Amino acid sequence: MQDGILRGNPAVRRRAMAKAITLLESSRPDHREQADGLLTALLPHTGKAFRLGISGVPGVGKSTFIEALGLYLIGQGLKVAVLAIDPSSTVSGGSILGDKTRMEQLSMRLEAYIRPSPSSGTLGGVAEKTREAMLVCEAAGYDVVIVETVGVGQSEIAVHGMTDMFCVLQLPNAGDDLQAIKKGVMELADLVVINKADIDPNAATRAQAQITSSLRLLGMHGNPDHASTGALWQPRVLQISALLGQGVEGFWAAVSSFQDLQTRNGRLAQRREKQSLAWMWERIDFGLKQAFRQHPQVQALLPALQADVAAGRIAASTAARHLLSAQSSSA
Ligand code: GDP
Repeated sequence: MQDGILRGNPAVRRRAMAKAITLLESSRPDHREQADGLLTALLPHTGKAFRLGISGVPGVGKSTFIEALGLYLIGQGLKVAVLAIDPSSTVSGGSILGDKTRMEQLSMRLEAYIRPSPSSGTLGGVAEKTREAMLVCEAAGYDVVIVETVGVGQSEIAVHGMTDMFCVLQLPNAGDDLQAIKKGVMELADLVVINKADIDPNAATRAQAQITSSLRLLGMHGNPDHASTGALWQPRVLQISALLGQGVEGFWAAVSSFQDLQTRNGRLAQRREKQSLAWMWERIDFGLKQAFRQHPQVQALLPALQADVAAGRIAASTAARHLLSAQSSSA
């Protein structure tokens, strides 16, 4: 499988990638062991792709845009992988993002690899599998890995935490940007893209001005990644029409200048380092919590203590200390 990913012809590679990602997504312990071995073998071949996060509410035009962008990049001689984190799949098994008819033209190209969101598990688990799938794509020589998510909830933070650049797609109506600013998503954005500018160019221009000034305000006392000094990146706002394919080239020019700047000022490497360590700790926290919940002493004490905390008979912090010491005294 490893050979197929690293050295196969395009068709062999795609089959090997699909197999590898299926293995990574499996919850069987023996599969997990094999998957970890595979990841370790692939790791030296990863890291060369540009990792691009794209988010936006359902209907904003993400798949239309990603298809236009993907085809443009293939035209530039690049290979593109598209992965997704669909938060709806983790709750209901339903899907906002995942149907097969999306990106029809792009999916037919050998230079593209499209994989829908892992379809079950916690958001942390789905994000972990997507992050690992990204490494497989990189080892297989994809130049750009796009990770798409829906502009609702925690999945945006997860995608921001695994990509080099995070872009938010917006509709050209004034109410929307305020929503995003309230949710704190704008603070994550390196680039805001106003799509469907063809429908109402004036509204798009108004939205662009409004979001630009909001971002400037955020930059003054917001995300340190976006601090307004020296050779640091200033988030930008662009207008496009994904449907008409307008603005895709300008979008990629902005991405390229971000990539150049972040490489020169060292931020790209720093961001990846921070992401890897944060990821490791996130997974440790998750693993410890799971082991804690499965500990026999904890399981024995938990129902009564939970009932006591819920009924206000014992302080939450006292119950937590009881449970932690029950686990550590019999570890
Ligand atoms: P997603 O849910 O964010 O992936 O959105 P889609 O890409 O499925 O687009 C939703 C609808 O908006 C589709 O009917 C698209 O054809 C339409 N759409 C996408 N981009 C544009 C655009 O730039 N202009 C116009 N007029 N329609 C668009």
